Amino acid sequence: MNEIKIALHMHTRYSDGNASHSELTAIAAKAGLDGIITTDHNIWVKGIEGYYGEGKSRVMLLVGEEVHDRTLEPPGNHLLAFGAQKELSPFGREPQRLIDQIKRNDGLSFIAHPIEDPLERFGEKAFSWRNWDVQQFTGIELWNQMSEFKSVSPTLLSAAINALFPARMTLGPLERTLILWDELIASQKRKIVAVGGVDAHELVKKFGPFRVKLYPYLHQFKSITTHLLIPKPLTGSFPEDRRMVLDALRAGHCWVAYDLPARTDGFRFQADNDEGTFMMGDRVFIKRGLTLQIRLPQKANCRLIKDGKVIKQWENREVATHITTEPGVYRAEALIPFKGKMRGWIFSNPIYAWA
Ligand SMILES: [Zn+2]
Ligand SMILES: [Zn+2]
Repeated sequence: MNEIKIALHMHTRYSDGNASHSELTAIAAKAGLDGIITTDHNIWVKGIEGYYGEGKSRVMLLVGEEVHDRTLEPPGNHLLAFGAQKELSPFGREPQRLIDQIKRNDGLSFIAHPIEDPLERFGEKAFSWRNWDVQQFTGIELWNQMSEFKSVSPTLLSAAINALFPARMTLGPLERTLILWDELIASQKRKIVAVGGVDAHELVKKFGPFRVKLYPYLHQFKSITTHLLIPKPLTGSFPEDRRMVLDALRAGHCWVAYDLPARTDGFRFQADNDEGTFMMGDRVFIKRGLTLQIRLPQKANCRLIKDGKVIKQWENREVATHITTEPGVYRAEALIPFKGKMRGWIFSNPIYAWA
């Protein structure tokens, strides 16, 4: 399998972002990304998808949309739509119809920032998902950097420090969102794909004569990314490569990465039995036994989670193996020390070993 790295969930000047689409592709190239998926609020920008830049700085631009119900108070129900190739905002008031429409158009739907805390000090509300009875969405945004900011910035001082030094605050997805993800898989008895979202806007704030860019795109693109496993190297033909990106996301052949402390390239979580090798996102039948293997790009602490519970932990390991005959939903997490704290580094999609 081949590996590529993308950033998804970001805003341009078409909504509340601070850059154009082509500027974002140039920043993405600088950050070493293979592609980006933009998601402006309630607008699908048509006709600009494609490859931008040349050679090593070639970047794919996919255009999605972040749809929400404008009339909902308090706000919520933000859904990321990728690949549907049509304007979806008219469906914003009916989450299930919206999800169905996206599916009908061969697109993917991810619940954005599923759980949020309000930023009360600034009058900023929580934009959590509200309609949990929905079915058939592709997955959830497991780690959203802006949700994390809201949760760890209760005071003016903490908000200022976190906004100016985002690397200091970034620790991992909200624990509640990880629990929610495991519970959703268990209750809906299906694959629910996790992705990492940068939710980048590059807010420009004026402090007297100074203009400060908060959460600049370049920083965001180097931090929370989604790594995808694709069946062959990118071809340079946009329609074909776009298809591989969407297929990998749909299948959950991907992991959520915090690439700032150390690159996560080369990470693998796989399962072997006498029928072959299966990767994250795959379903595998447990017959006799299954060997699960976590491979990290450098030594780190990691753990294996089965049906939402940690069943094994390893310290300072590059390879960790677990042999099992028990059906379940298995996923891997890795942690890494950075700026004086242990931080979430890698969150794999599960291998679904159902009997
Ligand atoms: Zn949102
Ligand atoms: Zn957003």
